[in-house]
Amino acid sequence: MPHSLRDLENPGEFIPRHIGVDAADEAHMLSVIGEASRQALIEGIVPRAIARSREMNLPPAVGEAAALAELRRIASRNQVMRSFIGQGYYGTTTPPVILRNVLENPAWYTAYTPYQAEISQGRMEALVNFQTLVCDLTGMAIANASMLDEATSAAEAMTLARRSVKARSNTFVVAGDCHPQTIEVVRTRARPLGIEVVLANSAEEWQRLLAGDYFAVLAQYPATSGRIDDLRADVVQVHAKQAAFIVAADLLALTLLVPPGEWGADIVVGTTQRFGMPMGAGGPHAAYMACRDEYKRSLPGRLVGVSVDAHGNPAYRLALQTREQHIRREKATSNICTAQVLPAVVASMYAVYHGPDGLRRIAQRVACYTALLARGLEQLGHRPRSPNFFDTVSLHTGKSTQTLLAKGHSLGANLRVAWDEYLCISLDETTTRADIELLWSVFAAPGQELPRIADFEQGLEPAIAPALRRTSGFLAHPVFNTHHSETGMLRYIRSLSDKDLALDRTMIPLGSCTMKLNATSEMIPITWPEFANVHPFAPADQLAGYAELDAQLRAWLCEATGYAGISLQPNAGSQGEYAGLLAIKAWHESRGEGQRNICLIPSSAHGTNPASAQMVGMQVVVTACDEGGNVDLADLEAKCRQHGDKLAAVMITYPSTHGVFETRVKELCELVHRHGGRVYIDGANMNALVGVAAPGEFGGDVSHLNLHKTFCIPHGGGGPGVGPVCVVEDLVPFLPGHATGGAGASPVGAVSAAPLGNAAVLPISWMYCRMMGAQGLRQATEVAILSANYVSVRLREHYPTLYASPNGHVAHECILDLRPLKDSSGVTAEDVAKRLIDYGFHAPTLSFPVPGTLMVEPTESETLDELERFIAAMIAIRQEIQRIETGEWPREDNPLKHAPHTAASLLRSDWQHAYPREVGAAVLDERRHAKYWPPVGRVDNAWGDRNLFCSCVPTGAYE
Ligand SMILES: *Cc1c(COP(=O)(O)O)cnc(C)c1O
Repeated sequence: MPHSLRDLENPGEFIPRHIGVDAADEAHMLSVIGEASRQALIEGIVPRAIARSREMNLPPAVGEAAALAELRRIASRNQVMRSFIGQGYYGTTTPPVILRNVLENPAWYTAYTPYQAEISQGRMEALVNFQTLVCDLTGMAIANASMLDEATSAAEAMTLARRSVKARSNTFVVAGDCHPQTIEVVRTRARPLGIEVVLANSAEEWQRLLAGDYFAVLAQYPATSGRIDDLRADVVQVHAKQAAFIVAADLLALTLLVPPGEWGADIVVGTTQRFGMPMGAGGPHAAYMACRDEYKRSLPGRLVGVSVDAHGNPAYRLALQTREQHIRREKATSNICTAQVLPAVVASMYAVYHGPDGLRRIAQRVACYTALLARGLEQLGHRPRSPNFFDTVSLHTGKSTQTLLAKGHSLGANLRVAWDEYLCISLDETTTRADIELLWSVFAAPGQELPRIADFEQGLEPAIAPALRRTSGFLAHPVFNTHHSETGMLRYIRSLSDKDLALDRTMIPLGSCTMKLNATSEMIPITWPEFANVHPFAPADQLAGYAELDAQLRAWLCEATGYAGISLQPNAGSQGEYAGLLAIKAWHESRGEGQRNICLIPSSAHGTNPASAQMVGMQVVVTACDEGGNVDLADLEAKCRQHGDKLAAVMITYPSTHGVFETRVKELCELVHRHGGRVYIDGANMNALVGVAAPGEFGGDVSHLNLHKTFCIPHGGGGPGVGPVCVVEDLVPFLPGHATGGAGASPVGAVSAAPLGNAAVLPISWMYCRMMGAQGLRQATEVAILSANYVSVRLREHYPTLYASPNGHVAHECILDLRPLKDSSGVTAEDVAKRLIDYGFHAPTLSFPVPGTLMVEPTESETLDELERFIAAMIAIRQEIQRIETGEWPREDNPLKHAPHTAASLLRSDWQHAYPREVGAAVLDERRHAKYWPPVGRVDNAWGDRNLFCSCVPTGAYE
């Protein structure tokens, strides 16, 4: 057997691990489709006019061990120092039982957003715990799960307030003592909406501004400098103006402080990072938003609520979805789609594990250490500016600021410079006695005697004025008071994940969402200390590893997309869209064409597109699709003409959300350019393009990618994501900047709290590209297309595919048309989706982009066996529908209408349905041992919205 040494070394070893279809499977699939080769198939699908001019220029693939070793070298260029920077990012200890069994557990991280309520009860229980945690600590009525980061949450609060209050002013007053990144992101968000942000740089200015006109104010509690203000009188004043009071609050501090909900705040925002999620150079972390009850129908983001199932038992589901972009489009309350579910689950588990007493003890320790630090600093001649503080003291250090900062660095400690002449020091859960002594030594003059901890220990108390101390309890629900042993916690986590279906159990054929393999080797680096334990605002030389990772990944993604510049700052696809449209808007303005504010969007677009356009102040005009599902070019041209010099942009998705490569996309781009508009190509479907065609080459000006779709970041049950924004050369100057993070200013400003957004998950996409190389990535695309066509052909006679190109082919997904079944049997696409649960599958995308259809995207990672299993289930369900059509089963009493079937419902002694129990159970013979049992029956969505309840279910409700 002659082998070259190169073959034996097998540098492409990962490629067949990622791609589930081998050569023999491929030959079989091609024969079923009726194509001679994969190349012939692809050439018949991808329009010649857009095919790539050359192969991507990427480093050749290496195996898993080699890629990890290379990434280790990059990680080691980050320097992990003791961080006392604070400013919204703190050291925290992820309890190991949560680290391994949630954050590093595919049962949690490979789950999808909980749209299919019945297979998502576990993660939704965790999210209801999260919402309860936020409500209890803030003292507010309702909280969502979750927001992308504290700064964007503050920006969303600003727009929520504007929608909700009576005051008609355009002014938003912001306390200067808010985190600088929050102020920066708020300004970015305010500008295109015509909101004037006015900063109060002193207490006097704050009072003067509060006496003026505004629709809302924002204050930080405790402030970024550590100060804790009593804001009660200010709230009264703001309310007298019919304006809203928004508070950015630290949840750990709120265990000790009177919560904003008790002194009248209208909206409270913040981050839950220090509840167990590592700093990770800025993310991912779950931010939160809580508000008063009157605002709930205007709340942005995902909200989990309690409803009932078909058997009358409590069951969770996403509540008030009619607020969201996927239904309300440009009238949505925000464009948020992917949020930060996995970090929210971690934060909720942290609270479950520690309970109210544990959280209070951690907070008290932080506060007492900070008081201790302050006493010693005072002894050294550095008196903190404020008498009241929780975890942060600020010192006026004047001319010696830089010297002290450098001394800190030399001793391994990062301090924070604020307002040029001040140093701020923040402590956290990880602070030790040794840290405090180290900090004292930074501030001690040469020869000065160091303070001794023992001198202050007696009777040490938090430096919080009595009037500001919390007296109310929190987290009284049993879930926060039960699972405090590790055994108990382990079993609680497992009991929740067992209720859910994620990629570790079955394929998730969700069109547009690309639920592909999230390889273990890709996941391993994210918790390496060099990536996890660095602060986003640490000095640049300590972040050299991240800078290298950023530069390499951007270069590779430029190769993949054909664009000239990319920013990894947006932390979801929706945020990439927002950043991309900001770039287009700023470009038009830079040319004196600021009047261009019309954004044309085809009717088939994802809801985030119109919602994002609305956020940058553009006016959405919907354009038609023809009967083949393609953008109607005649209509588009007419609208370009009609809007003339008002045309700003056209947003399309390619291949289209209908799962087809439109042949005239180049023409479309040229048409838009002729009319002075720019072309935004939504990159959610890049899994059909990588290595095959590049939007930046065939006419796109801007795209966002979803690294959590195409580039293997797991979906996390609804986040975290990364939504890089990619632009052509002349738009590069209009990519987001980040003055706070030292990444330079831009005409657009910052769109995320941290310069690299969800930095800590970038290693996943880096690993994927490094192990696949150009050929592997192209092969992945081609096999994704092959698999979609195979499913489409195999199901053709049972469920016709709605849209295809003239030769009958689809792109990387196919829309199965179930609408005719409604008439013939009364069965809806939703019934089929729920029946698939009985067969152990997560449903395909339901009723998007076409109501009454299922959109299947198998991805390249599924094996032929798994595709066959899915096909068999779909055919079995079609045969069941036939038995309804022939009248054997009544239209209202059949296994589809009663799906999914819980074990309890099948085991009742008084079984009274028209079909036998074993049919209800849908146990296919070879999978009998692996049957998935849904924990609840079909969930009643409307009931839940009529009886909105979004906190932990009182015990006893299940009896
Ligand atoms: C997923 C998706 C988006 C939104 O991306 P998020 O990361 O969820 O914000 C936008 N457009 C399309 C077509 C999508 O499939």
